[in-house]
Amino acid sequence: MGFVSRGLVVATGLMPKFVVAFFARRYVAGKTVPEVVEVVKKLQSEGCCATIDVLGEAITSLDEVPFFLEEYTKVLEAIESNSLDANISIKPTAFGLHLDKSEAMEYIAQLATRAKQKGIYLRLDMEDHTVTDDTLEVTLEMQKRGFENVGVVLQSRLKRNPDDLTMVCDELGSLADFRLCKGIYLEPADIAFTGKIDIIDAMNRDVQDALERGAYVAIASQDDKVVNPSLNMLKEMGMGPGVQDPRETASKARDGKGEGYEFQMLLGVRRDLRQKLTAEGHRVRIYVPYGERWYQYSMRRLQENPTLVWHTIKAIFMPWTNRP
Ligand code: FAD
Repeated sequence: MGFVSRGLVVATGLMPKFVVAFFARRYVAGKTVPEVVEVVKKLQSEGCCATIDVLGEAITSLDEVPFFLEEYTKVLEAIESNSLDANISIKPTAFGLHLDKSEAMEYIAQLATRAKQKGIYLRLDMEDHTVTDDTLEVTLEMQKRGFENVGVVLQSRLKRNPDDLTMVCDELGSLADFRLCKGIYLEPADIAFTGKIDIIDAMNRDVQDALERGAYVAIASQDDKVVNPSLNMLKEMGMGPGVQDPRETASKARDGKGEGYEFQMLLGVRRDLRQKLTAEGHRVRIYVPYGERWYQYSMRRLQENPTLVWHTIKAIFMPWTNRP
């Protein structure tokens, strides 16, 4: 972390909570389920769908898991009763993955059961490299137990990512379903690409590979250098809005998802890009975090990856570069 970035992170840590709340408003949908429902309805009126995340991760005791289980259950009920075009994203360490893998597995299975009963997809977010293996293991185990509504995230920043992608495609065939992203955690150079261009190149290779292997691919990026090549790849493969997925091994449309691919973006980021993609007819899903733990979440993200401080400052002082 550079000197300036470190200074910015320290300065952010010293900000009063109400100031952080003011800035976080744009990226967090509030603290309660009714607030998140309103945000998702607004996104829907703008042509987007959503994936809802209850903020919180890396719990310190398994006693905290029932809170997440119940809160996500309320979200599932709200999705159903409001007919929202939305699914859920969970952080496996909020279910205790780092504390007790088999307990976490059972808790996640409980939530997957409730989601499956309502025909709602459940995405396991990918956290730092210490839980990559376990998160993949949970995904494969959920599929083995018949939860076809469970998928995972892969981070192109990690050098192991192409192998993980191949492994999951080999194991799951047409049920392989990824969110591909660059990866937000700053990982050591021996296991991860650290240069901006290297990470972009890796992600573009992974998108191509996943599409060619017939997986459902959620392209999660706000970077034109990823989105534009992805659009070209889709075109070359004969995939696009209103077109039936032509890939022989393609997964079927299921659990509120379309044909073969979607774009995903974070709440409050690059509305211009989101509008362009929806206007062209692409499916765009917005990641909508909410919850009481917004402060800890915002601060941890800033500590982990100070480029977020730059994004936020840019968004505030140069709003034309990133309209909410
Ligand atoms: P960048 O070059 O970082 O961003 C492109 C442009 O988008 C920037 O110039 C800026 O204008 C804008 N921008 C990007 N991020 C922000 C921000 N936070 N605030 C303001 N402006 C911003 N990572 C994981 O490790 N695990 C996950 O499970 C995971 N899930 C994700 C889900 C979604 C839907 C998305 C969009 C991202 C997710 N990420 C996840 C984060 C991802 O790995 C990247 O760190 C993040 O998306 C930034 O990369 P980018 O491709 O958008 O490119």
